[in-house]
Amino acid sequence: MHLNFLAFAIPLFLFFIACEYLYSKRSGKNFFQYAESVANINVGIAERLLDLFTTGLFFYFFTYVYKNFALFDIKENFLVWVLLFLVTDFIWYWYHRLAHEINAFWAAHVVHHQSEDFNYTVSARITVFQAVIRSLFWAVLPLLGFPPLMISILLLVHGIYPFFIHTQALGKWGWFEKILVTPTHHGIHHASNPEYLDKNYGDVLIIWDKLFGTFVEENKNIKITYGLTKPLESHSFLWQHFHFVLEILLNFYHAKGFKQKWRTLFGKPDDLDSRYRDILERKFLRHRRTKETPTKAMRYYVSIQTGISLLVLFIVLLFEQYFSAKSLTLFSLFIIISLINCGAILDQRRWISYLEIARVCLVLFILYYYQPSSYTATLFVSTIMIGIIYFSDIQRFYTRILYSRSES
Ligand SMILES: [Zn+2]
Ligand SMILES: [Zn+2]
Repeated sequence: MHLNFLAFAIPLFLFFIACEYLYSKRSGKNFFQYAESVANINVGIAERLLDLFTTGLFFYFFTYVYKNFALFDIKENFLVWVLLFLVTDFIWYWYHRLAHEINAFWAAHVVHHQSEDFNYTVSARITVFQAVIRSLFWAVLPLLGFPPLMISILLLVHGIYPFFIHTQALGKWGWFEKILVTPTHHGIHHASNPEYLDKNYGDVLIIWDKLFGTFVEENKNIKITYGLTKPLESHSFLWQHFHFVLEILLNFYHAKGFKQKWRTLFGKPDDLDSRYRDILERKFLRHRRTKETPTKAMRYYVSIQTGISLLVLFIVLLFEQYFSAKSLTLFSLFIIISLINCGAILDQRRWISYLEIARVCLVLFILYYYQPSSYTATLFVSTIMIGIIYFSDIQRFYTRILYSRSES
């Protein structure tokens, strides 16, 4: 049996989060907010899921560059591994810095910075778009002549490190603070205080920041505020992923002349006209109620859904080899609908009933797909009929049960 043991990263990840959560409670620091944590984990679920479809492509891309354009013939040995690590970390620094300085890249990286918490769940807050952009930067490695297999192994190891620097539980790391990116350094990177903006871009080594003038030490007198300078005020899965893309597009549409249009894409985030963000918020976030704490019913329902999404993801990853492309797509669709649904519930949207009906239909369709019979077909069709006929009752039921304050 061919199992993908990388799937066990999910329970391991949850174990570390549980430990950190207990520490946060016991120490009285409470650096976990319910909605923030769920939103972070849900973004991570989508990334891990879509990663299934893209990892092979990246490896193919690296191999293609290596075979056709490699500048040097690099052979594997210990020193080459060290060199590869240094070059990878150096490229990361520039990828990360440019992801903050160029709008087209920030559109993907902004998602990582939306959380107003700083804990292990934030490390999961990466999108597949970010992975795509990062891989374009990693293409320098096969171009230099590093073998693709070496690159894949190193990127895997290199990718584990950032998890451990997204925490407030590990304190200072003594002498290591001088050369490594530590939780203190990276916490500063996630801060929106003016003194800390656009600093500490490194991934494993902090030396690049010191070398290129973007390093800043922690100032004990500054109380860190985590997140974006203009907070998102929404946990909508779609808004989190696409709000900045829409902002760029609207700016691009209204920009006059080539130079201005170029600046909307490749200029800095500050170059954008903030009025367009307001217009988009008025259109898409009219009824935002994120500041209200979620009701007990919302918390239960969202937690169960997130748990199921994690479980389905774990099974899909573990038995990856045994899933056909069709079943992989069906299960992925189920997870994506659940993620959008959770975000919409946290934002107290009424349109979740559409998603609920769509998801039930999808589950029944999956049932029919694996067990085609007249029973499953009838079940599928009658559920759609019930969904259409009793739509307004279903909608009332969901909103009353989930959002009603008397229930909490
Ligand atoms: Zn960043
Ligand atoms: Zn981070």
